[in-house]
Amino acid sequence: MQHHESVPLVAVHHGSGAWLFDHEGNRYLDAISSWWVNLFGHANPRINAAIKHQLDTLEHAMLAGFTHEPVVALSEKLSALTGGVLGHCFYASDGASAVEIALKMSFHSWRNQGLGDKKEFVCLKGGYHGETVGALAVTDVPVFRDAYQAMLAPAHCLMSPDARQAQDGENADLVALRAAHALEKLLQERATHISAVIIEPLVQCAGGMAMHSPLYVQEVRRLCTAFNVHLIADEIAVGCGRTGKFFACEHANLWPDFLCLSKGISGGYLPLSLVMTREAIYQSFYSDSLARGFLHSHSYTGNPLACRAALATLEIFDEDNVLVQNRERAAQLNGALASFAVHSQVKHFRQQGMIWAFDAQVDDPHLAATFSRRFFSCALKHELLVRPIGTSVYLMPPYVLSDADINLLAERLQSVFHEVMSP
Ligand SMILES: *Cc1c(COP(=O)(O)O)cnc(C)c1O
Repeated sequence: MQHHESVPLVAVHHGSGAWLFDHEGNRYLDAISSWWVNLFGHANPRINAAIKHQLDTLEHAMLAGFTHEPVVALSEKLSALTGGVLGHCFYASDGASAVEIALKMSFHSWRNQGLGDKKEFVCLKGGYHGETVGALAVTDVPVFRDAYQAMLAPAHCLMSPDARQAQDGENADLVALRAAHALEKLLQERATHISAVIIEPLVQCAGGMAMHSPLYVQEVRRLCTAFNVHLIADEIAVGCGRTGKFFACEHANLWPDFLCLSKGISGGYLPLSLVMTREAIYQSFYSDSLARGFLHSHSYTGNPLACRAALATLEIFDEDNVLVQNRERAAQLNGALASFAVHSQVKHFRQQGMIWAFDAQVDDPHLAATFSRRFFSCALKHELLVRPIGTSVYLMPPYVLSDADINLLAERLQSVFHEVMSP
């Protein structure tokens, strides 16, 4: 609240493609997709048309005893993207609620199978899964967590596979094996009490864009299967093509037991989240006893407008061959940033799909403490929306950057960096 007395809020008037425009006519390249939700630009004509048509057909109907075409079509499309392995979808509105659903469903499924002792959860250092009380319990980002620590159910918080931790002679795979070993040790002792392991496959986003080898995801899958523990893949940020495949788990050639989606699934238009799961989990709730059912509801669950936006978003993936196009865009931006990536004050320059990040080498503690705010303010003056996490600067642009946008982004980012680093 106090910061905004000196750094006023930017009042956005309208958006177009990758750009946002304020009331004074200034423009900002949305290099972080408005908190990682926007995929195909602001005011996208195709998504707009789909929502407008849906608006005149059905704006909302409850998803209890009733269903509707957009939610059925979306579930079928998503299921098909997993080859039918994750053939059941449970809907909510925001990411944190999807995580709550996965945690509750995991526990309740074991309980229905007579394994009610399995009520503990495993999460990772630096992991982020949302800020409601259940999701925060498996989140390890101190700024969000510390004030509420006393309210939260204890969870097992294990070593992250973050490749930046590589010691002499280690590569990302060896860090992954080290982290997986920590999980194996815990499961050997405690698996009969553990319900699920929750991870952000490939990139721990809110924790500072920490990237890891897909080998880690493979190891976690192997261990979860061996020890009869569920694997929850939180793909709320890394899903929907962000890492280069539609689902991040595809890099490891496997499916989790629960997969959470939100953020980009509606193209960044409307709140929508869902949890995909397997037939065996579905069957564990299939009963004539109400107590064995999964009772969890949100008023706007599976909202038709949001589902329609999601269907329009998935159509764009198909029609425009987006994953292939993004490889081109990523190569171009990598090229434009190649000399910057080896700058002496740029550490751990990293990229996965449409995510770029680096850590600024800031030695002055005062600059380190204010780096993110300074960078954000300076970037605005250079027509960029970039919001570092601490001293980790990242780009997560929408999948519509033109050649000109890419060059502008790379140039301006470097100007901002130099200005902030030598105040
Ligand atoms: C953003 C995010 C969430 C929470 O989603 P909200 O819609 O903000 O509640 C959960 N997990 C991950 C990995 C996220 O990035």
